Amino acid sequence: MDNQERQIYLDYAATAPMWPEAVDAMLPFFTERFGNPSGVCKAAQDARKSVETARQMIAKALGDVPPETIYFTGCGTESDNMALTGYVNAVRSAEPEKPIHIVVGQIEHPAVLETAQSLKKQGVAVSYAKPDADGVITPESLKAAMRPDTVLVSIMYANNVVGTVQPVKELAAVSHAYGAVFHTDAVQAFGHVPIDPAAEGIDLLSASGHKFGGPKGVGFLYAREGLKLTPILNGGGQERHLRAGTLNVPGIVGMGEAARLCTASMETSSVRIAELRDLLEQRVTSKLPDVTVNAKSVRRLPGHSSLTIPGVTGENVVLMLNLRGICVAAGSACTSGETKPSHVLLAMGRSEKECYATVRITLGERTTREEIETASQALIEEVTKLRRMNLG
Ligand code: PLP
Repeated sequence: MDNQERQIYLDYAATAPMWPEAVDAMLPFFTERFGNPSGVCKAAQDARKSVETARQMIAKALGDVPPETIYFTGCGTESDNMALTGYVNAVRSAEPEKPIHIVVGQIEHPAVLETAQSLKKQGVAVSYAKPDADGVITPESLKAAMRPDTVLVSIMYANNVVGTVQPVKELAAVSHAYGAVFHTDAVQAFGHVPIDPAAEGIDLLSASGHKFGGPKGVGFLYAREGLKLTPILNGGGQERHLRAGTLNVPGIVGMGEAARLCTASMETSSVRIAELRDLLEQRVTSKLPDVTVNAKSVRRLPGHSSLTIPGVTGENVVLMLNLRGICVAAGSACTSGETKPSHVLLAMGRSEKECYATVRITLGERTTREEIETASQALIEEVTKLRRMNLG
């Protein structure tokens, strides 16, 4: 714990520390307010009321969508599965003979890529929309992947490796022009950039509590009114018969509070955090001019920095910084641990060597200027040492 208190945490894309207010809001639901919202007694009514308040908070944070369009899930991964499999199965049951084709971004998280692979094994045709060198999937690139039988497009709102924010409104318009539904994995984006599903043409959207200062093990799916989905879990009739299972009341309450706090602070926070991110990049590139800042010239998440540092491996940099109490990541958190080059950087045209030389530094609500000064100096020193030792 001591060590954690002293650590400089710069891995917000992996998970964010919780808002203390969100923790406080959750606590009573573990003890005296323990009711099951599906029941009828007083405790149940209390829990149900709190769940509905959280639903309203999330709906408000999401461009004021109707609260009934929010379905609580167990995580971002589940929301992605529910969107892709749930929609494909709904199309299948309405028109069993209809050929089904879906398009997913080549740089999606495994939660989408693996779901698409699973659907492929069940006879669904899958195409991939390619990103450009900055990690942007352009409307032209999406068009090239579309077919007359495309029923669903899934392209993430913001990428978890390089932080690129996609032109979602344009991509949704292309999808609709082909009669397809548009899903976006907004796990990295929700709570960090404003999102307005109605204005942007988003039909389905996934998010996860722990990426925006809520708890782990809870997420949600937005599904536009009137859109039919088939449940992916068999069981009770919770969440208007779409997601069976007793609701995670403390988690939902904490996530709702986190959504409210993110919305309230987003305008000022995102400017402050982006300034710190730019400071870090400026410090590092002024001392190490051969470092490439990935996706620098396009719209990125405010706290996201992906640096390719020739002559070192990202993993070694992560280990060295960790010894100095600084937490950063080599690739995306969900794939680090495996020593495979990032499929995102490869799709952006980077060589394997460049992929291995990449570090992801992600800032958030609690990041201070002092931490950034310390971390950038430490990064410069460790890279210089590794290069001198020719350790890569
Ligand atoms: N989608 C993206 C873009 C992510 O970054 C992640 C997690 O890193 C997920 C989905 C999975 O979310 P969860 O951990 O809530 O299952």
